[in-house]
Amino acid sequence: MARLVCVSNRVADPRKTEAGGLAVALSGALQAGGGLWFGWSGKVLDIEGPTPEDTHVHLHQAGNVTLATLDLSQWDHDAYYLGYSNAVLWPVFHYRLDLADFDAGYIEGYRRVNQLFARKLLPLLREDDVIWVHDYHLIPLAGELRALGSRHRIGFFLHIPLPPPQIFAAIPAHEWLARSLFAYDLVGFQSEADLQHFNHYAAIEAHAEDRDGDGRRWRAFGRTLRTAAFPIGIDVEEFDALATAHDATEMYRRMREEYSRRQLLVGVDRLDYSKGLPHRLRAFRELLRRHPDNIRRATLIQIAAPSRESVDAYGDILRELESLAGSMNGDFGELDWMPVRYMHRTMARRRLPGLYRAARVALVTPLRDGMNLVAKEFVAAQDPEDPGVLVLSRFAGAVEQMRADAVLVNPYDSTAMADAIQFALQMPLAERRRRHERLMDGIRRFDVHWWCRSFLDELAAADAEESGPDWLRL
Ligand code: ADP
Repeated sequence: MARLVCVSNRVADPRKTEAGGLAVALSGALQAGGGLWFGWSGKVLDIEGPTPEDTHVHLHQAGNVTLATLDLSQWDHDAYYLGYSNAVLWPVFHYRLDLADFDAGYIEGYRRVNQLFARKLLPLLREDDVIWVHDYHLIPLAGELRALGSRHRIGFFLHIPLPPPQIFAAIPAHEWLARSLFAYDLVGFQSEADLQHFNHYAAIEAHAEDRDGDGRRWRAFGRTLRTAAFPIGIDVEEFDALATAHDATEMYRRMREEYSRRQLLVGVDRLDYSKGLPHRLRAFRELLRRHPDNIRRATLIQIAAPSRESVDAYGDILRELESLAGSMNGDFGELDWMPVRYMHRTMARRRLPGLYRAARVALVTPLRDGMNLVAKEFVAAQDPEDPGVLVLSRFAGAVEQMRADAVLVNPYDSTAMADAIQFALQMPLAERRRRHERLMDGIRRFDVHWWCRSFLDELAAADAEESGPDWLRL
């Protein structure tokens, strides 16, 4: 069996509970063949200029898996991570051209770090390794490896959405990014919608040939690329174990006690403009106006974990949220009831299932999201006898799997969203159970292990010869 090598921006020790479902799933696949996980250490070196060529790769053994990480200089970190990844690719891939900063220096850093990754990874590789590259930070990695002579089977999974060609083509280097994807043997997306966007781009912009006429094998730049959608899931077993452990059950008990006479709504997100948090608060304000029976009864707990706060757009959203939550509490609050409890913090993963389970409704209402795992975690944490209801944005990747049984909303329409929240709050028990059971079936069937297996099986099926080993430096 070939060894699996995973490459991602960050590397997590899968033995730690805070690592989350993805780390656990990858670790399962990595453990099987004594794999390698390669990425940035998270450490920034206080030195001038690019990361030195002789920078050291740190090797740690985590069970059967080798974790290989390297530090980056401040300059590289700023251009590759804060710059090109998070101020160009993140906003544009979430359809936010207005927030993109196309500073010409960023792409150089992005490419330089991908080249450094390739040079540092190559000596660690064995001939028959299978390489799985994750996410938008590392799009050019396969091209850089091929330029150094790698003939490995290499797959790429994009964890965030892919926008339609009209938006993607606004990136100054879009042709280069698209060509870079053709250095892979397989590229996987979260949703059919993302896959269609890629296929559309491949046909009209890259003039690629659709090999079988079904949009699954594309020929361009001397290579054949397979594409498919693999919607990511959660690790249901790992999540169940968390949900039944002490921290989560204690959290549940405390919340039920505190909110015994109230209807609890919950939002759990990273603080990010893609999550539609101000829109969510405005819809909740609209709920209180249009359906005043919720006054003194409904409380929204919104937890927003700090993330990438050195990027300007995040400071703006933070201030907007604080002011919205403050004014809603000022306008509607009573001595013994506040409509919104907004917390800017990360909640311990061990306690999250307890909070989810205590809530009657979850508001998962991003403006755009690759998948959104909170939607799946919320459903998995519910008591099947008395489950809560998922209110889900039509712009989350999860909608393709959960459309029939979640309450769908358009986050830009606060009036309709308020009415949908009211509908969710008033849903009779029998219907809640029915919807929950069907959602849970899907979550169990398409869990993170299914995702991992399907991707790796498809990658194994990609015929390396047919892909074409030749790769000209771009
Ligand atoms: P994204 O990857 O864009 O942050 P997802 O919903 O797909 O969005 O994944 C988020 C993960 O992070 C979930 O596993 C969720 O439980 C966790 N998470 C999100 N917000 C918080 C928070 N405020 N505190 C703790 N964990 C969080």
